[in-house]
Amino acid sequence: MPELPEVETVRAGMEMAVCGKAIAEAIVRRSDLRIKVPYNFAESIRGKIVKSLARRGKYIVFEFENDPHEVAILHLGMSGRVRIYAPEDFGLFSLRKHDHIILKMEDNTTLVYEDPRRFGAFFLSRVPGVEKSNNGWRDIFPFDTMGPEPLEESWDGNALYNAVRRRSAPIKTLLLDQRVVAGLGNIYVCEALYAAGINPKHLGKDLAKAKCDALVRELKAVLYRAIEAGGSTLRDYQKTDGSSGYFQYSFHVYGREGLPCMKNGCKGIISRILQGGRSTFYCSTCQK
Ligand SMILES: [Zn+2]
Repeated sequence: MPELPEVETVRAGMEMAVCGKAIAEAIVRRSDLRIKVPYNFAESIRGKIVKSLARRGKYIVFEFENDPHEVAILHLGMSGRVRIYAPEDFGLFSLRKHDHIILKMEDNTTLVYEDPRRFGAFFLSRVPGVEKSNNGWRDIFPFDTMGPEPLEESWDGNALYNAVRRRSAPIKTLLLDQRVVAGLGNIYVCEALYAAGINPKHLGKDLAKAKCDALVRELKAVLYRAIEAGGSTLRDYQKTDGSSGYFQYSFHVYGREGLPCMKNGCKGIISRILQGGRSTFYCSTCQK
């Protein structure tokens, strides 16, 4: 499932390809995604000039030069990916079974949204005017209830400490709650808890300030490393088939159930438990 670094990689790849260009045509081949693609999506998005692509949590937001009152919002769901075709490839690629939405730009650059499990979403939303809000699209669904961005400088150990100090849920579950902090998913949360040496079952209210500092530091580090890995994979991909999306990243604890802990001097074995219906991988010997 794409998490913040994968979404950021897709965002950066798409932004390079479509910024400053008008959308000449949109084709919706299937509209029954997690949120139904509106019937007028293709008609409404046609002619809009892409100004920039922003990311908030796991969502990508298209801002338009010629329509500041509307944004397009894309979520990759569980299995969504975007293929990007350069103008010179136009007419040379074929569509696949799960290609649901196609955006063709004025110069024939083409974005193809593929999503086998259809848990994703792609829709347009009105942006409130300045008389109603100071933050534009950041004040509309689904961003209005979202917690802070983990890579923002202002999100520090203190911010996390204050967000969880009265919560009796396990820290792992709290970090996956998009209202506590945006964009984190199962993989990178497991990795950061492991790196910080914090037991995922530790309750939010029992987490000392120093532990929160260490956890935030490790979360930012793991996210930056993954974004960097994504960036390099993206460049490689673009040389070959023009697609962007997922990349190779080696995990220290995620998916390693039954294998020895990789920390120097630790003789622990990685276990897997279920928390809130999701698998947590951790080492009970060095994660206290
Ligand atoms: Zn260990």
